[in-house]
Amino acid sequence: MSKIDNKLRTDLEKKFGNRVSFRKSERKLYGHDIAVVPGLIKPVIGQTIPDAVVQPQAENELVEFLRWAAQYGIPITPRGKASSGYGGAIPVRGGIVVDFYRMKAIKHIDPEKKTATVEAGVVWEMLDRELMKQGLTLRLYPSSYPSATVGGWLAQGGAGIGSFEAGWFRDNVISARVVMLSGEVREFSGDDLDLIYAAEGTTGLISEVTLRVQALEEIEVIAIGCPDAHDLQQMVESMIDRKLPIWSLLFINPRMAELKNKAPLLEHFEHPVEERVLLPASYIATLTFRKKDRGTIMDSLPEIMKPCQAELLSDRIAQHEWKNRFKIMLVKRLGPSLVPAEVVIPLSELGNVMAEIEAKVDQPVVKEGLVIREGAKGQPEVVILGFIPSDQRRFSYNFVFVLALTIMNIVEKHGGRPYSTGLYFASKAKNILGEAITARIKDFKKKVDPKSILNPGKVIKGGIIGKAMRFVGAIEPLIRPLGNRVMTHLGERPTKPVRGIPADVVWYAYGCSQCGYCIDECDQFYGRGWESQSPRGKWYWLREYMEGREEWDQFMVDTILVCTTCELCNLRCSASLPIEPSWMKLRGKLIDEDKKMTFPPFEMMAASLTKEGNIWAGYRKHRTKWFPEELWGKHGPSHKAKVAYFAGCTASHVETDIATAAVRLLDAAGVDFTYAGEKENCCGTPMLVAGKWDVFAETMKKNIQAIKEVGADTVVTSCPACDMMWRQIYPRWADKLGINYDITTEHYSEVIAEQVKNGKFQFPDTAKKIKVTLHDSCHIGRVSSVYDAPRDFIRAIPGVELVEMEHNREWAHCCGSVLTLIKEPPVAADIGKARMDEAMETGAEKILAMCPCCEFQFRVTAEKKELSIETVDLARFAASTLGYDFPDPNPEVQRQWAVFEAMIALMTPEGFAALMGTMWPEMIDAMPFGMGKIMRFMGKIPGALNLMKPMFPILIPRLLPLMMPKLMPVMLERVGERIPMPDYMREQMPELMPKVMDNLMPHMIGDVVPLVTQPMIDYLRGA
Ligand SMILES: Cc1cc2nc3c(=O)[nH]c(=O)nc-3n(C[C@H](O)[C@H](O)[C@H](O)COP(=O)(O)OP(=O)(O)OC[C@H]3O[C@@H](n4cnc5c(N)ncnc54)[C@H](O)[C@@H]3O)c2cc1C
Ligand code: SF4
Ligand code: SF4
Repeated sequence: MSKIDNKLRTDLEKKFGNRVSFRKSERKLYGHDIAVVPGLIKPVIGQTIPDAVVQPQAENELVEFLRWAAQYGIPITPRGKASSGYGGAIPVRGGIVVDFYRMKAIKHIDPEKKTATVEAGVVWEMLDRELMKQGLTLRLYPSSYPSATVGGWLAQGGAGIGSFEAGWFRDNVISARVVMLSGEVREFSGDDLDLIYAAEGTTGLISEVTLRVQALEEIEVIAIGCPDAHDLQQMVESMIDRKLPIWSLLFINPRMAELKNKAPLLEHFEHPVEERVLLPASYIATLTFRKKDRGTIMDSLPEIMKPCQAELLSDRIAQHEWKNRFKIMLVKRLGPSLVPAEVVIPLSELGNVMAEIEAKVDQPVVKEGLVIREGAKGQPEVVILGFIPSDQRRFSYNFVFVLALTIMNIVEKHGGRPYSTGLYFASKAKNILGEAITARIKDFKKKVDPKSILNPGKVIKGGIIGKAMRFVGAIEPLIRPLGNRVMTHLGERPTKPVRGIPADVVWYAYGCSQCGYCIDECDQFYGRGWESQSPRGKWYWLREYMEGREEWDQFMVDTILVCTTCELCNLRCSASLPIEPSWMKLRGKLIDEDKKMTFPPFEMMAASLTKEGNIWAGYRKHRTKWFPEELWGKHGPSHKAKVAYFAGCTASHVETDIATAAVRLLDAAGVDFTYAGEKENCCGTPMLVAGKWDVFAETMKKNIQAIKEVGADTVVTSCPACDMMWRQIYPRWADKLGINYDITTEHYSEVIAEQVKNGKFQFPDTAKKIKVTLHDSCHIGRVSSVYDAPRDFIRAIPGVELVEMEHNREWAHCCGSVLTLIKEPPVAADIGKARMDEAMETGAEKILAMCPCCEFQFRVTAEKKELSIETVDLARFAASTLGYDFPDPNPEVQRQWAVFEAMIALMTPEGFAALMGTMWPEMIDAMPFGMGKIMRFMGKIPGALNLMKPMFPILIPRLLPLMMPKLMPVMLERVGERIPMPDYMREQMPELMPKVMDNLMPHMIGDVVPLVTQPMIDYLRGA
């Protein structure tokens, strides 16, 4: 039962505005962590779905919030990135999840003292990036560095990369500010840190952490192979005895090496884009040390390695292991699930523990470990993260899960302990945290949170789940044979679609480890800040859908559609999942196959595209107006050439400087090219991403035909989206549709850079000096890896200094355009501003961009956010140095945007309801079967319309299509009054609008009716 009644809900809305969520499908995403709890255990956990999720953005908000929560006794569960798997971030009594996502300021970095003070929600990778700017770096970090938060690691406790030298994270923290349940903010340091370290928020919520960092130095990596765990143990002991100055020591077992060799490679358009580095089937230790210590280490190694039969592995293996150190979940794709078991053991027991696990567990246990030179009680310790591949969808997963407890029992027998308490091992707190510290935390908890409101059921006080785990642990020897007997299949093996989700996407959904690496850099996510908008959230939702606990609604359809297709997630994913391509498949399923509603403005674009070949409702006869007259004979459609310039519709109808400049450059560089002129159509990108694949296919066919007709076999583009179509998408679709396609594609920057390189062209020296930065467009950057050509091109212009933004080339951030701009213009402006701020930080005078849509978006953003930096098209910028002048595209952009913005606002249930509100007399008159008269009559009888009210949701959707022909003229008139359309657009509306209404109304009417019912009744009553 929800603990949040209407009053409390209103309180939260007042406090947090759009930083609180009550949406069930959203809350569900905040009710789990990375672990997959077996079906038999799940029901005893409690109420895992919180009643609300809040996102405080400053400590003072946290103070006020905790006082409020204490007053009403509402359970609180803190959450960093939920990258842990001990259940600490899972609510067990509902209540409120406090998501620290927005508390991520880096408050202070002190290069002298080598300390950093940060808000709890800052992600390790983010912090390290800032430190590096000041010649510093982290002393240690978890291998979940791309996602985990600093506060989360302090609350969870742990060791990680760098721990060989730096020890446990606890030893590297100077102090922490913690908000207590009373609202008091206390600073913890020294011994008092024991009261919050690994206490998982049960004693207070960490708001700020000050930690030690180190000087940034060049590091080196080597990899060593050992035949077995005893040898590995002996080798590491010897390294410690000799005090080798190693910074980090990680290792994997032969099973892990074997699985890594089988794991899928990173793919791009279904082709691997990385080389496989085969690992030997041995224990592989990866050692990292400072370059200055190389001599000491390498000199000692032969003597250390020899008795252990160890061998130095190739540099390629060492670099590969280091580069992929965060990708430990890659092997999950072979499961597609993993049963985890994480433990700490004395180094002196490593060989024995490994041998006993091998003897007792018949399933393949893949292991990754790290060594701490000086662990608890000053002795060397090893942290082992073990995984058993399994399939959570099968009942047998329950039995395999028990084997994790087998491993725990073995470890405890050898003087080890589980890694953490969390939800499952509270009964082992004394062993995990130490007796004295456990007693101190218990005492402290009694004082500061006697009613157990802060993260109940965790760390020291386990609930039923803790008892269940203890019980299963005790009877583990009885269940073990069942777990051992389960047939384990390794390898990716999609079988069949589930509830319409394509088979490969089904597998990926379960293969996702929920590690969260994809979250922070996803622009769909950071524009909004909610888990549902991230790849991780979508995979989890899909699992829920496939298991029948969720259904598609327009919110979720929109959530799939609104991904900007930037493809950054593909590169960040720890499991190398083809994320964006999966969303692309779902677009086809949802819109093309299931006929769900796409974003309404796409319907207007589709109608315009079908009629005139462009999405801007311009006339086809106006498409070529931008083409320089004096070049028409030389490069126009009547000229046959092997190369055709393809302008695309935005450069033809809106930002025409791009197309004009591109042909000027190609001509000046001596390229023989032609142009398809009015036969050219939109490239189709908007239709592809809208899921309107029938319109896309027709458009593509027309474009291929047009290029064939001018005799070309090479298309030169200026727009990256067009480029993506010609270079990547058309060949695949042509193949699918049996169309002969032997067309190659180049971007004009590639063509010009090549001409410059071959000495066939050079830019004149205008004696002007300017500093510029380049915005890499996703659709030519990550999609086709065109990074160097535009840079070479810019550098070929005398006097131009190119400075890079922090995120560039394959890591460049998206501009936030088309899909976001169409769906949520204010979010697009936020995303655009983030990118433009980055550009401004470089000190550049101008942002050079290649994509008409990115430029459109930056211009609109600059206007909205009052940003001073100018965006200039790269071709225009370069062609200007040749002495050409171009009209300023800005006024046309703002004019077109005004139309679009008004159109977007109109094409919503609220927009249509408001439009209807301007035409009640005409609407009533347009009702068929004399219904209008009846309605007017009913309006005169008190209470009659109210009685009819329940019928409106049935009546109106049936009547509306019949009313449309009569209503259309007045509707067009009213639309014209609301939208500042240019004449050519207004002229076409009678043809475009009916198509748009036909496609939209069946989907939208259900949401419109509740909004218009009362206003219509009021009108009929004469109110
Ligand atoms: C691929 C991968 C690699 C990993 N490698 C390591 C590793 O090398 N070493 C390691 O120790 N762990 C590792 N982990 C586990 C996990 O990433 C770490 O425990 C991490 O520190 C958790 O951080 P988080 O921000 O995700 O916290 P969460 O998982 O969200 O939270 C962890 C606990 O802290 C509590 N909490 C979170 N924020 C606060 C706060 N501000 N105040 C109070 N309580 C809070 C939560 O309630 C929860 O109990 C790994 C996980 C993955 C997926
Ligand atoms: S493609 Fe870009 S916007 Fe879409 S999910 Fe991936 S990172 Fe997010
Ligand atoms: S999609 Fe990839 S990066 Fe994102 S949570 Fe899943 S496995 Fe991690």
